[in-house]
Order: sequence, then structure tokens, then C-alpha cells
Amino acid sequence: MYKTVSLHTLGCKLNYSETSSMAKQFQNNGIEIREFGEKTDIFVLNTCTVTNNADRECKQIIRSVIRNNPDTYVIVTGCYAQLQPGEISSIEGVDLILGTNEKFKLFDYIDNFETESLSCFGKKQKADIFVSPLDEGNYVGEAFSSDVDSRTRAFLKIQDGCDYNCSFCTIPLARGRSRSLEIGKVIESAQKIIDSGYKEIILTGVNTGDYNFTESGKRYKLIDVLYRLEKLDIKRIRISSIEPNLLSDDIIALVNSSDKFCNHFHIPLQHGDADILKMMRRRYNTDFFHDLIHKLSERVSDVGIGIDVIVGFPGETEKHFENTYNFLNSLPISYLHVFSYSERRNTFAVTLDGKVEVKDRKTRSSVLRNLSNKKRHEFYTSHTGKKAEVLFETGRDGMIEGWTTNYIRVKSEYKKEYENNILPARLTEASGSKFVKGIVE
Ligand code: SF4
Repeated sequence: MYKTVSLHTLGCKLNYSETSSMAKQFQNNGIEIREFGEKTDIFVLNTCTVTNNADRECKQIIRSVIRNNPDTYVIVTGCYAQLQPGEISSIEGVDLILGTNEKFKLFDYIDNFETESLSCFGKKQKADIFVSPLDEGNYVGEAFSSDVDSRTRAFLKIQDGCDYNCSFCTIPLARGRSRSLEIGKVIESAQKIIDSGYKEIILTGVNTGDYNFTESGKRYKLIDVLYRLEKLDIKRIRISSIEPNLLSDDIIALVNSSDKFCNHFHIPLQHGDADILKMMRRRYNTDFFHDLIHKLSERVSDVGIGIDVIVGFPGETEKHFENTYNFLNSLPISYLHVFSYSERRNTFAVTLDGKVEVKDRKTRSSVLRNLSNKKRHEFYTSHTGKKAEVLFETGRDGMIEGWTTNYIRVKSEYKKEYENNILPARLTEASGSKFVKGIVE
């Protein structure tokens, strides 16, 4: 009988929330959750396939777990498992591979696997693969989780899949078409999160802004979800990431007028050169993006804006890169998430000419990361001397960290009573781009 399990996640916040749901399935079946790295009867890896590095890391982790604990039953699921089950099954010691749909019904498969495990051979000779095509069904596995143990912030998945066709992206292949959690279930899950003592809900999805659910002839969009969530007794609600074309004026107005919504937006741009952006098949152009960011900064007070950007897309010349740099530098934003382009099978981008050398991708990444540090430092510095509400998490080495609504990391002297509380703090001094010192007042 299996008594213990450890789980590990790679990739996005959505994956983290889904791993949390899998952990709950194990707990409900009487199996104890242990830390990743401990010897356990079962090991589950929830994978990512957004870049070649992500694939490589998946394989390294699987091999290392099997080396350190050859008897553990190894289950691999997630986006990499959905797209490349054959590659994973070639790793000796993997027992079960589950696709994107199957991970929400773990025990349908583990039952079989458990019976066979009672044989004298123990582990499987060859992995069982259960991966169904993603166009079958409209299922959205429910998931919510905390990012830390302190019960401060919980991720709530409201949407899955994507109908967009960005030319570099493999996620629609790994996660299927866009579908949304029933609005009633969103509110039910949010209430469970609140009842568990969390102070902040972070709404997540693959394309969260594309939330679209119809019930009894009424169509609910993201704004309807936000109106309903706002009525709950929650301190903070944050939208994790939203496509620029879906960030509507009514969402901006609600965020600005309600004290529950965080004045923080994370928006994927992907490229600041008009021609490259077009080749990426995004649903907006640089003028639209420019106007959106300025509108946010005018309408939402003290807004924090994070931007996703990719370097090294096929055909990106020094001139294109310079354009992206200058465009980003000109915008009133607070930080960047920088990604190096990675060739993905079955995408349009991989067929394009003009491959950018890996060393150039690295150099350009590092240039934009420096720009991000500069932007973040400026943003942090512009808040010193001001007061802000900070949601404090857990303490370490005599200090405690927390986040403001507009996503400034604040460090204060540790006091037990600060944990999982929103407290007013005076922001005194920015420590580079890492954090701002805060004194609780
Ligand atoms: S919006 Fe584009 S980048 Fe984002 S998941 Fe959909 S296809 Fe991929």
C-alpha cells in the first residue's frame, strides 16, 4: 500500500494550483504528503513545456528522483506529458504518464497501477500512458492553492486553454481550447479560500481575460466574475495576467474604484517592434499597447505594471531589438519578465528564417533584465516616503516580507503578529530593485 507521496511543479502558477488539487486528491485517499526530495512511495512531477529548458529540467528531475529513490512510483503529468509522452516513457523507471485531462482523475489510474504494484516485480517494466486528445470535452479541472504556507495568498484557477494562435506558443496544443469554470464554482471556491483564512485571491488561467461562461442563456465574462467576487468578504483580489486586448475599460474602472482589487496588472507584450509583433500573431499592435499602458497609468492611482517580453524571435535583428528596448524604456512600467525565444515543435515560428544565435538571445535577455531592474528601482524609489498597506507573509532571519497592492516587495522587522495580516507601513528606503524597507505604523 502507498502511504506517502511527494509532488513537484515546474512552470506557471496555474500548474502550481493544479498540483495543489492533486495533493488534495492524495490526502483524501489517506496518503500523506511529504516534501519534495524526501523518500516517498509515490512521486508526481507536474511538467511544463514552454521552452527547451523546461523539457530538459523535467527529464533531469525525473532521473534524479529515480536515482535517489529507485523504488518510488513515478507519475509524470502536465504539458510536457501531454505533448511528448513518448520522450518521457523512454526514461527507465517512469511508471505512469497522465495527460492534461487525466491529472484531475488521478485515482482512476492509480487504482490500476496500485493493483499491479502488488506483484513481486514492484515497479512497472514500461510506463503506462494515458493521454487523451484535448479537443475531447470541455472540462476545467478545479484548482486553487497557496504560494506559501502562511495562508496569505491563494491562486484560484478560473479558466484553462487558449484559442489564440500566437506563432511561438505551444500552450494551446498542451492545454486545449479556451474553457471557463462555471461562475457558481468560481464563487464557491473563492468562499472556501476565504473560509480557510487567506487574505488575497489571485485569479489565474492560461488566458484569464478570455473567461466566457454561458448559463441559462446568460453569458458571463471576466468583468461579471469580478463584480461577483467583489461582493465577497475578501481583503484583496489580484488578476494574475491579462492579454492587452482583453483589458477593458470596465475592468480598469472597477480596479480603480474598488478597494478590494489590487492596482497591479501583469500584461504580456512579447515584442516592442511592430514588425516582429505582427510575426508573433498577437492581437494588438504597439500603438494600442502604448495607449493602454498610458491609460492605466493615468486612470489607476499608483498602478504597478509588469510586462512579459520575448527576445530572439526568428528574424529579430539588432535594430528590432533596439526598438523593443526603446519602446519598453519609454513606458511607465514597473518591471519586466524576460523570456528567451525557444523553438517549439508544431508552431509557425519554428518554420521562419532568421534564427537568432543562442548567445545573442542570452545577451539580449540580460540587457532587458537590467532594464527591468532599473524600472523596478525607479518604481520602488517613487514610493519611498509614502504609506502603503502590506500583506505580510512569513518571517525569516529576524525579517518579514510582504507585498503591497501594487506589487512592491516590502521587508520589515519580524513580529509574529504581522504574519498573514495587512498592515499600514511607511516605505523608507529602496534596496536596489529587490525590496523596499518598511516600518509598520
Ligand atoms: S495568448 Fe498566445 S502566448 Fe498566451 S497562451 Fe494563448 S497562444 Fe500562448
